[in-house]
Amino acid sequence: MGTKTSRKPAHLAQTRERLVAQRARFEGQGARIGRHLREGLPADSEDQAQALVNDEVMNALDQNGRAELEKIEAAIGRLDDGSYGTCAVCGAWIDERRLEVLPTTEHCRACAGQ
Ligand SMILES: [Zn+2]
Repeated sequence: MGTKTSRKPAHLAQTRERLVAQRARFEGQGARIGRHLREGLPADSEDQAQALVNDEVMNALDQNGRAELEKIEAAIGRLDDGSYGTCAVCGAWIDERRLEVLPTTEHCRACAGQ
């Protein structure tokens, strides 16, 4: 028990950069619409404007893009809480090469069914 053998994969910082860049790219798809919307709102409704922008980002993405963005958000969350890189099913470390190809995966190869 305990975490004394916790193995921090060396590429975590790069993985985070990749994920953050991907998230920005997805969000950028909705940003133009968001800016357009904000122009029509009074200046004192910044919160409301931001909420609308967030909605529009999601609406601007198709279903696949939305699912991908959610996976990216979740992966960044796992980087934050330290669980990134372990399988959500069996708890094993996910192969680093697998993470390189599928940085948002939360399942090891075996649990992903291949
Ligand atoms: Zn597993």
